[in-house]
Amino acid sequence: RSTSVKYERVLLKLSGESFTGERGFGTDSGAVSYMAQQIKNICELGVETAIVVGGGNILRGWEAESEGMDRSTADYAGMLATIINALALQDSLERHHGLEVRTQSAITVQQIAEPYIRRRAIRHLEKGRVVIFAGGTGNPFMTTDTAAALRSIEIEAKVLLMAKNNVDGIYEADPNLFPDAAKIDFLTHQEALERRLRIMDATALSLCMDNDLPIIVFDLFETGSIEKIIAGDPLGSVVAS
Ligand code: UDP
Repeated sequence: RSTSVKYERVLLKLSGESFTGERGFGTDSGAVSYMAQQIKNICELGVETAIVVGGGNILRGWEAESEGMDRSTADYAGMLATIINALALQDSLERHHGLEVRTQSAITVQQIAEPYIRRRAIRHLEKGRVVIFAGGTGNPFMTTDTAAALRSIEIEAKVLLMAKNNVDGIYEADPNLFPDAAKIDFLTHQEALERRLRIMDATALSLCMDNDLPIIVFDLFETGSIEKIIAGDPLGSVVAS
């Protein structure tokens, strides 16, 4: 194992939005391939890598609800959306980047993914396989951010890496709306919760706080960013106790 690795096991959260790339909807092969390459780069450093994928590029439960759909049904559809993204990423990782991947889903889709089995996921990681967790938590009224926090804790990841595609960390206000907003390099979980900085939802954040799980928010689409984080370089924004 490389000595420059600060985190031996990580969980990377990829939002659905990061799958859309230039296309603006659905999954864009260029964006997926770029993300797969970043994952490969850290795997080659010996980092055990698990991934939770979002589904917001295809369907968000609360959005569908606002258009008249039953919330639980919409949320289940959202969970299915994450499986579509997981398959796209799995395909790119395996066929174009030569990695071994196992996708585990929180809702049963046995023809296309393993069911989520914690000990089996850990075994895959130990064998150097990338594990993609699809289907969120398997429960409506939850988010894939909560799934990311939950799975991180379950597999004892050293850090939860929250990948962004339009911002390089946590800001006092949305930097796309307020260009003068200051970046926050470090804050505690408690501060993040109190200041409602929209890093992730409160359920996810409090799970991280209660279990002492550090979070790093960073721009995955900034060249080399994930490898720098793995090496312990101060990049992005850190939430820790
Ligand atoms: N979802 C859910 N339970 C979960 C995870 C996700 O019901 O545990 C649904 C929810 O409707 C959500 C959608 O799946 O809007 C897509 O996930 P999310 O919005 O978290 O994806 P992201 O914002 O990361 O793209």
